[in-house]
Amino acid sequence: ASGTAASTDAHRLRSKQAVTPRSQDFNAWYLDVIASAELADHGPVRGTMVIRPYGYAIWEAIQEYLNVKFKETGHSNMYFPQKEASHVEGFSPELALVTVGGGSELEEKLVVRPTSETIVNHMFTQWIHSYRDLPLMINQWVNVTRWEMRTKPFIRTLEFLWQEGHTAHATPEEAEKEAKQMIEIYTRFAFEQTAIPVIGGRKSKLETFAGADKTYTIEAMMGDRKALQAGTSHNLGQNFSRAFGTQFQDENGERQHVWQTSWAVSTRFVGGIIMTHGDDTGLMLPPKIAPIQVVIVPIWKKETEKTGVLSAASSVKEVLQAAGVRAKLDDTSERTAGWKFNFWEMKGVPIRIEIGPRDVSSNCVVVSRRDIPGKAGKVFGISMEPSTLVAYVKEKLDEIQSSLLEKAVSFRDSNIVDVNSYEELKVAISSGKWARGPWSASDSDEQRVKEETGATIRCFPFEQTQGIKTCLMTGNRAEEVAIFAKSY
Ligand code: AMP
Repeated sequence: ASGTAASTDAHRLRSKQAVTPRSQDFNAWYLDVIASAELADHGPVRGTMVIRPYGYAIWEAIQEYLNVKFKETGHSNMYFPQKEASHVEGFSPELALVTVGGGSELEEKLVVRPTSETIVNHMFTQWIHSYRDLPLMINQWVNVTRWEMRTKPFIRTLEFLWQEGHTAHATPEEAEKEAKQMIEIYTRFAFEQTAIPVIGGRKSKLETFAGADKTYTIEAMMGDRKALQAGTSHNLGQNFSRAFGTQFQDENGERQHVWQTSWAVSTRFVGGIIMTHGDDTGLMLPPKIAPIQVVIVPIWKKETEKTGVLSAASSVKEVLQAAGVRAKLDDTSERTAGWKFNFWEMKGVPIRIEIGPRDVSSNCVVVSRRDIPGKAGKVFGISMEPSTLVAYVKEKLDEIQSSLLEKAVSFRDSNIVDVNSYEELKVAISSGKWARGPWSASDSDEQRVKEETGATIRCFPFEQTQGIKTCLMTGNRAEEVAIFAKSY
């Protein structure tokens, strides 16, 4: 298939060379993909990023799904402003403070929110009086600021976008159920929408959020086998309600402190998608989260062929869009078809449809899968007849979605090693894998593992094996296995 302009080899080359192969240098690859696929750019302030339209569209897809799930489970969206100085213990090193306002030194400094527990409790205390006001279940989509020292686009930025859910309940059981429900929603989202087979579990005491009784997490294995904490849900117990005096009168007329939760997923998730599925060519997006699911590339040589090809291509686009498929027609004449193929592959679009003059006369198209490179992923002679084409494309999108998940699951599982001693743990970690083993040792032992191996306890997974276990470190009886890994 030849393209429209002759002198675009340079472009083709450039687009090919732009992305460092993943197998060569994972970090360089990650940054190249973000730049070449136009997901984000560096902001002028250290550690910040500008999220570009294509990257933002992925964030929007995350928002659209979660927003529906949050509302289905009884939460309402609202908005809290920033609040004065008091803050959550454990965040002090990461706080940004506003010290001057209107030209004069502020008596009370304003904390740029790192998370909103303080203002949420300030307001909850005014809104909650009796058991009839409970449960109170809200969520907000906002930016937060944490003065991070080591930053990486999407994964860890100074300012990021997230949703933070905050709930208050009358009983500890309800709060626990809520915290678990939300991590379950995140888990399902990760599996079904982003094809990331996260492992859900509980954080160790050392890794639990300072203000929480329990922190639940979903941990994802990136392409370089490092772990990414992709979302958290905290059972806050009465820690904040006691500090803020957030009380309600129960059915017997007794004053009690409320039981609370908070949970969050951030723009980090976009980084997780890139680092789970991308390959040497660039980004690879799961269809359900892809801003563009199908790109249509018309191919013509002679000017006389152009009209027919473009009109067929544009009707294919309309047919797909009418069926709810996110389709884009790349009909610019400034680039060759070859250049466009490379470009949209690098951008991770799951399906490409080619239409040339011969396809127009045979009323057929050529369909290629992003996840199966080269000829193997290319199918000729798919009918342009609307119902046939729509059914075919939808089936392929589903296949790609499940195939990406399957690949990620087998990658994950082949890189988790079951260990029964500290020696085995060290070997697993130093070979870049995750180690899973029985653990009931102390916080200082956990600290030691971190210092000696660089790995931390990612979680005590919800899915536990049955049977008697002995702690890999102490040889004492252990109730649970923990997963250790190096992480982002
Ligand atoms: P936390 O409040 O620390 O439990 O964080 C909640 C979630 O926000 C984490 O699971 C991450 O997904 C995300 N997150 C935390 N810090 C950052 C950051 N600096 N940049 C992007 N996402 C973050």
